[in-house]
Amino acid sequence: MKEILDAITAGASGDDLANLPLPESYRAAVVLAEEQAMFEGQASEDKDPRKSLHVQDVAVPELAPDEAVVAVMASSINFNTVWTSIFEPLPTFGFLKRLAREGTWGARHDLPYHVVGSDGSGVVLRVGSAVRDWKPGDRVTLHCNHVDDQDPSAHDDSMHAANQRIWGFETNFGGLADLTVVKANQLMPKPAHLTWEEAAVNALCNSTSYRMLVSQNGAAMKQGDVVFIWGATGGIGGYATQYVLNGGGIPVCVVSAPDKVELLRDLGVDAIIDRKEKGYKFWSDEHTQDESEWRRLGKDVRSLVGEDPNIVFEHPGRQTMGASVFICARGGVVMTCAATSGYMIEYDNRHLWMKLKSIKSSHFANYKEAYEANRLIAKGMIQPLLSAVYPLTDVGEAAYQIHHNLHEGKLGVLCLAPEEGLGIDDPEFREKVGEDRITLFRRHAEKAGRR
Ligand code: NDP
Repeated sequence: MKEILDAITAGASGDDLANLPLPESYRAAVVLAEEQAMFEGQASEDKDPRKSLHVQDVAVPELAPDEAVVAVMASSINFNTVWTSIFEPLPTFGFLKRLAREGTWGARHDLPYHVVGSDGSGVVLRVGSAVRDWKPGDRVTLHCNHVDDQDPSAHDDSMHAANQRIWGFETNFGGLADLTVVKANQLMPKPAHLTWEEAAVNALCNSTSYRMLVSQNGAAMKQGDVVFIWGATGGIGGYATQYVLNGGGIPVCVVSAPDKVELLRDLGVDAIIDRKEKGYKFWSDEHTQDESEWRRLGKDVRSLVGEDPNIVFEHPGRQTMGASVFICARGGVVMTCAATSGYMIEYDNRHLWMKLKSIKSSHFANYKEAYEANRLIAKGMIQPLLSAVYPLTDVGEAAYQIHHNLHEGKLGVLCLAPEEGLGIDDPEFREKVGEDRITLFRRHAEKAGRR
């Protein structure tokens, strides 16, 4: 890998990179099948990714005709890596076994280790014989929608494909590694003004928020819509907030700490709720919700913007869904893509049907949506949320930070990149976009003492 890194750093041509031999093994963050029962009987919050995530050498897989081998310069931690590392709600080895039933290429994924990670930026080293649009030397970002396009179900919206999977979560050979193997239709051009680590953190969360708010497949937000955003400085929330501001919507942002309130103000948000300060208690006990607390939240929203939200950007799940349905405006939509605090959801259906509200689900993004979201990053219209950077060897600590909500925005991970700050190909455009805007989350996290 050293030879490959040296060649990339020296600006070697695509042909030179293509002629360098690939190593037989590479460094990767993995969970191990033999440890999948290690946390049995423990509460979720006690399950520690630092114990289950290991960095070790694994074999380079054979390349399928529709795939590319990418030298991963940087990656990021997503919540799905937290789920994999605590083996919740299920160990991910079952996904790999299911993929293995799809034939020879799928069978490569069923291994006693799972290389995790669903984001990445890097350089293409090899392409399979069926790949047309990409070549060795291309600098890329990677999105995580893994679809076999020979299945007819993949040809309307590929997120509806029967074989749709999330790379590095439901497939092996993920991005938290020095190398990865991805489908060619996961490749996107790297935004030239960003560092490797800034470019690496966006695809999963940015594309998810794009589909949820901008795409016709999601809420298709229009100018003037009031959009209520839970976790507005978290991974998907931080991009959601930018989409609402860019698209002429009115964001109402919820966070849980004063430094996050300050960050939102610097992003240009006026209507902000600190949920910790407000002390909402939507559940009076494990089984009972308190409608008066939903009502209190609704009043707080009205006092800030004078209206109910047309769109609720929902992902905390069990803790908040009752409130989300309640505060949503008549005819509005609750867009949901997750259930961090629990997936068995309860809400009062009367508030839904009597006011003709709907709940609409969303999951990641199809290639076109991911590409469009990547384009907005490349045009400097959406900023990366990078707030801290970890070496690959500290991947467990980075996942721990997210598991315990100690972070802001996105945590980057350096893979092959030996240090931060490398990979900027267009410094003039970077200057035009503005260092202050690009590094806003980073500066805030440092000021607030978040690692
Ligand atoms: P983050 O941890 O970065 O951000 C989530 C934010 O939600 C936190 O910062 C926190 O903000 C807020 N939050 C957490 N728990 C609660 C709660 N009980 N009540 C209210 N707010 C809460 O995670 P991501 O944004 O990356 O992901 C969020 C969820 O979305 C995860 O479950 C993830 O798996 C899922 N996801 C799903 C995708 C899909 O395609 N379906 C894609 C990406 C993510 P604060 O404390 O400041 O309020």
